[in-house]
Amino acid sequence: MAQARPHVIVIGSGIGGLAAAVRLAARGAQVTLLEQLPQVGGKLNQWIVPHPDRPSDERPFRFDTGPSLITLPFVFKDLFEAAGEDVRHHLPITKLDPISRFQWSDGSALQFHPDLDQTLLQINRFAPDDVQGFKKLFDYGRHIWELAGESFLANTPEQMIRGEGGFDLLASLRSISIPFRIGMFRKFADVINKHIKHPRLREVLYQYATYSGASPFLCPATLAVIPYCEMHFCGWYIRGGLYTLATSLANVAQKLGVDIRTSTRVKRILIDTKKARGVELATGETLLADAVVCNADAVFAMRHLVEPKDRPHRTNARLDSIDPGGSGLVLCLGVQGTYPQLAHHTKFMPDDYQSDLRAMFETRTLPSDPCIYVCSSTRTDPSQAPDDCENLFVLASAPPITANSTIDWTVEGQRYQDKLIDSLEHKWGLSDLRRRVVVSRRWTPVDLQRDYSANAGAIYGISSNGIRNAFLRPPNQESKISGLFFCGGSTHPGGGLPLVALSGKIAASLTLDYLRL
Ligand SMILES: Cc1cc2nc3c(=O)[nH]c(=O)nc-3n(C[C@H](O)[C@H](O)[C@H](O)COP(=O)(O)OP(=O)(O)OC[C@H]3O[C@@H](n4cnc5c(N)ncnc54)[C@H](O)[C@@H]3O)c2cc1C
Repeated sequence: MAQARPHVIVIGSGIGGLAAAVRLAARGAQVTLLEQLPQVGGKLNQWIVPHPDRPSDERPFRFDTGPSLITLPFVFKDLFEAAGEDVRHHLPITKLDPISRFQWSDGSALQFHPDLDQTLLQINRFAPDDVQGFKKLFDYGRHIWELAGESFLANTPEQMIRGEGGFDLLASLRSISIPFRIGMFRKFADVINKHIKHPRLREVLYQYATYSGASPFLCPATLAVIPYCEMHFCGWYIRGGLYTLATSLANVAQKLGVDIRTSTRVKRILIDTKKARGVELATGETLLADAVVCNADAVFAMRHLVEPKDRPHRTNARLDSIDPGGSGLVLCLGVQGTYPQLAHHTKFMPDDYQSDLRAMFETRTLPSDPCIYVCSSTRTDPSQAPDDCENLFVLASAPPITANSTIDWTVEGQRYQDKLIDSLEHKWGLSDLRRRVVVSRRWTPVDLQRDYSANAGAIYGISSNGIRNAFLRPPNQESKISGLFFCGGSTHPGGGLPLVALSGKIAASLTLDYLRL
């Protein structure tokens, strides 16, 4: 008689959860994926709304409401390959050129391109004294990538210290020297300041730390790998919208036999004699499993899905001490007419970007003059809005919901929205914007917390501020509860689409080892 395949429950269909489900099913596990929302994708989500004056128009406004930029595309190629699929048949990805444009109120601007020489020409025009420093910074990022990138992204911190088949002294001695060589004990901003003199170019580079929810003044210099990766591996868009990544992965998962149940909330992870046995749903139904992979935010899940008696090592006080990193306010604005001056990604830089960072990470207040990021995907893909219209995704920083933040979002949400629209219209030249908005929707940190069960409404899960947050995040394998694994932005290796997909790979591999599959 054929042996029953081991059953794995995956909680949450963020990109980490979908990646884990695909990889587990491809290796023969029976997988049930449980998602509380009516659709898959987690923070990679979409909003589709018709033009109010043209309800039967074939082309409504389409917005990616979360991620707008794909980096490290080879991660997704590898993921589809693991399922026996060719990524090109699923994701029509397009390289962006320019990757982004930075603009200041005095009219000066800077663009980063997928070609380093072209970017250096821009730097030469913008900050001629910094060309050599910029090259050195790029080389520093490459050095970090070559030294630790692959190992950090493919393994848990414990696996990096252990060699194959147990403890390996040589490997661990090598690893001990690596933290110094990859800038773990230096600050990101210090390395930028060392190489770059122009204050505005410094600020452009600082903002890369926020790609992992971190402050450049608090996170390790290792994050210099982020601008290197963006310029080396380029920035990408998926035609039809980034949400295609979620639907494609769900299709592949279903083809492999994954049972995806949306609108299904897990109330509790069932743990008996320090072993995960399955889950209890909000409906009261119990589902048993041989292992549980949790893609719900790890801090949220520990607090709400694991009973305190089963986690004496992860008390609420300890969970409170984990820094959630940055959040933001998202506006999706469907606009009549177009703004051809916008690039696909435009960042409107304030006169004092450091005060924006201080507001988010230190005073936990709203910035008085925020950096405003606008994604206009119609620049690359006209299918995303009705004729003669534009779909503007606007993101500005906001602090996460922590004990020391006193923002009342029921009041401040509208005020901050008004401020951003006024600023775009009057300071940044999007003339008549307020009058031209025909549909709009807003997400505050409270909405991110509610919709995705995101701890503190943080965008990336946990910040990379400080060594503990950057390198010793909640583990992919729970050490004191066997059969319980984690993937997603708040676990190793971190937040952002490629990293959460890699966390799904790590969690799947640990689960397969555990199940001896
Ligand atoms: C506004 C915004 C902009 C961003 N921009 C970018 C970008 O440009 N590029 C980039 O790479 N990244 C970006 N990110 C970050 C990126 O979206 C995230 O890092 C990534 O999508 C998180 O994936 P995840 O696997 O951690 O799961 P999540 O997306 O956090 O999903 C977790 C899932 O678990 C479900 N869940 C939680 N609890 C339960 C439960 N009890 N029962 C059942 N289901 C449950 C949730 O509903 C959710 O669907 C952005 C994020 C936001 C919000």
